[in-house]
Amino acid sequence: PTKPYDPENIFAKILRGEIPCNKVYEDEWSLAFHDINPQADVHILVIPKGEYVSWDDFSAKAPADEIAGFVRAVGHVAREQGLVVRGYRLLGNVGRNGGQEVPHLHVHLFGGGPLGPMLA
Ligand code: 5GP
Repeated sequence: PTKPYDPENIFAKILRGEIPCNKVYEDEWSLAFHDINPQADVHILVIPKGEYVSWDDFSAKAPADEIAGFVRAVGHVAREQGLVVRGYRLLGNVGRNGGQEVPHLHVHLFGGGPLGPMLA
């Protein structure tokens, strides 16, 4: 089961403006910013503004408009960053064995060149 949301996680602090980020996109539902430790030429994180630990609780509990807003934001960022022509990768880590470190839902967006078999 998904743990309760921790409002002190680092992405919650970014959303509240308590710590800075290198923002690439923001709308009503979502925020996108560059990963602090990039694993590809382009490595962007897209997060919903709502308090969701991971894909697990988001997919189960988020209202349809939040889900649609977030999914559209991910696609929008990929297009806006010019990633579509050369291809890109989306990745979501869930839980400890999934390699999730920050307990606020985020989709990794990798691109900019050929990608190896697995990242993040
Ligand atoms: P996870 O392993 O949870 O899927 O990925 C968390 C990602 O967040 C990692 O790629 C890590 O580099 C990134 N990250 C962690 N802390 C910060 C931060 O304070 N700012 C930014 N921009 N990225 C962060």
